[in-house]
Amino acid sequence: MSNKPVIIPRTEHPISRKWISPNAVRVLYRLKESGHLAYLVGGGVRDLLLGREPKDFDIATDASPNEIKRIFRNCRLIGRRFRLAHIHFHDEIIEVATFRSNITDEPEAPAAAGAVVVPEPSAPAPGGEASPLLAATPVTSRPRPPRMLKTDDGMILRDNVFGTPEQDAIRRDFTVNALFYSIADYTVIDYVNGMADLRRGLIRIIGDPVVRFTEDPVRMVRAVRFAALLGFEIEARTYEALLEHKDKIALASPARMYEEVQKLFLLGEGEKTFQMMRHTGMFGVLFPHINAWIDTEADGFPQTWVGKALEWVDVCVQTGRKVEPHILFSLMFGKYIEEKWKRSRDTGMVPLDALEKAVAEFLGEVVPRVQIPRKAALAIRDILWNQGRFEKTQGKAPLYFLRRPGFADTFEYLRFTSEFTGERLELRAWWKDFIRSHPLVPGEAAPSAPAKGPARPGQPRRPDERKRRRRGPRRRGPKPLGPQA
Ligand code: ATP
Ligand code: MG
Repeated sequence: MSNKPVIIPRTEHPISRKWISPNAVRVLYRLKESGHLAYLVGGGVRDLLLGREPKDFDIATDASPNEIKRIFRNCRLIGRRFRLAHIHFHDEIIEVATFRSNITDEPEAPAAAGAVVVPEPSAPAPGGEASPLLAATPVTSRPRPPRMLKTDDGMILRDNVFGTPEQDAIRRDFTVNALFYSIADYTVIDYVNGMADLRRGLIRIIGDPVVRFTEDPVRMVRAVRFAALLGFEIEARTYEALLEHKDKIALASPARMYEEVQKLFLLGEGEKTFQMMRHTGMFGVLFPHINAWIDTEADGFPQTWVGKALEWVDVCVQTGRKVEPHILFSLMFGKYIEEKWKRSRDTGMVPLDALEKAVAEFLGEVVPRVQIPRKAALAIRDILWNQGRFEKTQGKAPLYFLRRPGFADTFEYLRFTSEFTGERLELRAWWKDFIRSHPLVPGEAAPSAPAKGPARPGQPRRPDERKRRRRGPRRRGPKPLGPQA
């Protein structure tokens, strides 16, 4: 199959080389001068066409990874699942991928553990290079790991078959993400009618939505992210399939989903994204317990906390403040955890034990779908535990607290919660003044370093702390808080 792409000449699109990272332009030209096709691809093209600043500049080419390595001295090949070239510059890495294909009609090798495989190509002749376009030829002798691997249900486990530019375009997720900008003649190459969707503001999956969402359920989450971020609508068939197959996002890898969730909520349109995730039911698939809690709350209204927290985060992001994932999650889920904490305290549990139980329970609930790291959970615990210290405004206590690592995160939580609840506003104002009148001496505290855990009476110090204490001067701060078992 070969369809002619629509070619949009330079005079009919706004992409100028001056908006592309100079390093990416260098890489594009170098590939072209070496006789290869060289296209800017993906979100970079989409964002430039929309007049937005791209997050990164990805390049696709017909050069194989080994050929790319030979062309660029500053190149490293990475990845087992996708063999990619990283071209290293002083302050930037440009990712270069060989055109790939999503073919599924290749000869099938015996499937391992219920998987359908397309075999690896045979090895290149000595001194020569197997053409990437001929990559999916059958195995001749020794079995190799398959380049294409799908489960019986059609979910892609591995996808590393080289292809033509057209195949590369149609294996991408959405039409607006599949446009190519060619450095040879500055045209935009459109195999999938992406330009029309870009003009109409539509997120449309390429191909059969059910097949494509089954192949990779994360695409459903990406659809919502792009729609919210770009202010686009999800095209009707894409949306219908998404509603019907949303439960499959539970099958995606929790580690990958953790990365995706950060992108959902940390790119400046988190609240809007959250509402779309709730509306489609996808939030409920990713966070079933928290979703149920949101639905069943106070005064006949669902909880507004999570949405308000995300509005807060959006303002931070939009005004250029970096929000770390553990702050995002404490803001989003703080009240949920606090309520668990209170329930345990009400049974007579020691407060710290009750908090640890609450955080552990929360982690146990979310980790099967979204693998929030334990380190982030510990940081959330510390942020909640240390809220009580804001009450101590007498003597040396405030200064000790201010100088603790993690103070800034803890204060961020107070800032949001006081805004949300209307409580502790005076306390927040007191601390704001105090912070202003006590600028940190450099090196005194690292505001966003992960805080140590809360102290337990009689708990032994870590060996390294004991040493430091013996040798160093008397600490000015409070007892270091010991790590938890
Ligand atoms: P962002 O602005 O978030 O970087 P992006 O579109 O560039 O958006 P990336 O995750 O950087 O997204 O991926 C680059 C490109 O790779 C996408 O534009 C798309 O063409 C393709 N792609 C990424 N993820 C998938 C996927 N799950 N399935 C198919 N194609 C994908
Ligand atoms: Mg990108």
